[in-house]
Amino acid sequence: MRPLLLLAVLICFHCILRKCFCTSEQDKVLFIIAATQEQASLLQNISSHNETVLWQPASPSHIAVKTPVHLYIQSSSVSQITELLRAHQFSFRVMLENTQQLIQEQIRNDTTDPKSGGMTYERYHSLEDIYHLVNITSQEHPDMTKLILIGSSFEKNPLYVLKLSGRRGPVDKAMWMDCGIHAREWISPAFCLWFIKFALTFYKQNADITTMLDEMDIYILPIMNPDGYKYTWTTNRMWRKNRSVREGSSCVGVDLNRNFDANWCTRGASSNPCSDIYCGQYPESEPEVQAVTKFLRSHKDSVKIYFSIHSYSQMLLFPYSYTHEEIPNHTELYELVQEAALKIRRHYRNQYRYGSGAKTIYLAPGGSDDWAYDQGITYSFTFELQDLGRYGFLLPPNLISSACNEAFAAVKTIALRVLEKLQ
Ligand SMILES: [Zn+2]
Repeated sequence: MRPLLLLAVLICFHCILRKCFCTSEQDKVLFIIAATQEQASLLQNISSHNETVLWQPASPSHIAVKTPVHLYIQSSSVSQITELLRAHQFSFRVMLENTQQLIQEQIRNDTTDPKSGGMTYERYHSLEDIYHLVNITSQEHPDMTKLILIGSSFEKNPLYVLKLSGRRGPVDKAMWMDCGIHAREWISPAFCLWFIKFALTFYKQNADITTMLDEMDIYILPIMNPDGYKYTWTTNRMWRKNRSVREGSSCVGVDLNRNFDANWCTRGASSNPCSDIYCGQYPESEPEVQAVTKFLRSHKDSVKIYFSIHSYSQMLLFPYSYTHEEIPNHTELYELVQEAALKIRRHYRNQYRYGSGAKTIYLAPGGSDDWAYDQGITYSFTFELQDLGRYGFLLPPNLISSACNEAFAAVKTIALRVLEKLQ
């Protein structure tokens, strides 16, 4: 081989290697802490930059001194931003550097036949596969399930609720659980699917599951934000909001968990359509929120327990998030989440923080759990599943089952305790 040609081949090979394997080419997630007010303001600025996505907290406005910040940075800006952080003496470290590889791992195995491969519930599913799974499940268990269309999304994707019931006559109590309000929190819809499978498989085998399904109906909305979820599979894995378009704004999407009519758009939400915590044009402006509120309003008398499943940060939360004031049954709900967190720690050796939303994280008005509580569903909870930031939104498929097992332990502990109270 002639030397020039050899050089060209070597350079090309080097390029391929860098593209595929060299971590410096990848997007990164940094863990950053601001030590001074000046640093906090600078970090707010940096995290508003287009080339970054704030993982935690949910919005730059929540960044304060000593608040841990998880910031996703596109590869093209990594060196520029890390230099800036060094120049301003920030304390920071790389939290995740193999983001592309993790994303690939999450979408791998997904075929058009979601039943292939056996481990259906230990991997992530595209929107089409979720619809398919829910449909198949309802067909296979006509005696225990009912598929209910409660509305459709901005892009006209259906919003299906699967109603689970034991093999018995009608009951007057029900539980609601929604997953996937925020598009990028993939473990959330994975948990709803896992829960459905687990409940149907172990009914009449596991005493706790049997009690739950015999004493109440369980309504499950596996994917509340189908448009956003689809977008995370096709275009932007880091997307959070829905995909609604507003005339006069080039920014897309509303944060559905700021769009409920619960102290709507006060401190902790944003009226800027470009913000990740944009509250929408008015309360319940979004079709996804309208569908859920309409359904829950018409089932207000039977629904006693409300769960909304999110990730990440391992927290068991209850109202209020829109004010620091305590709800009337604060102590009761505190004891419930405490018991659930203890159970997770004992059985799975994992730590979950717990308490009211505003006191445990930060003010977040317009949330679904606060709205449900104010409707009279006084056992209302928001869970933040695994992890604590090791993988963040990119939780690998091999951790799905442990995340689901511990979330199930918490749901079960609370549901059974509430059923006892309602006797
Ligand atoms: Zn969320």
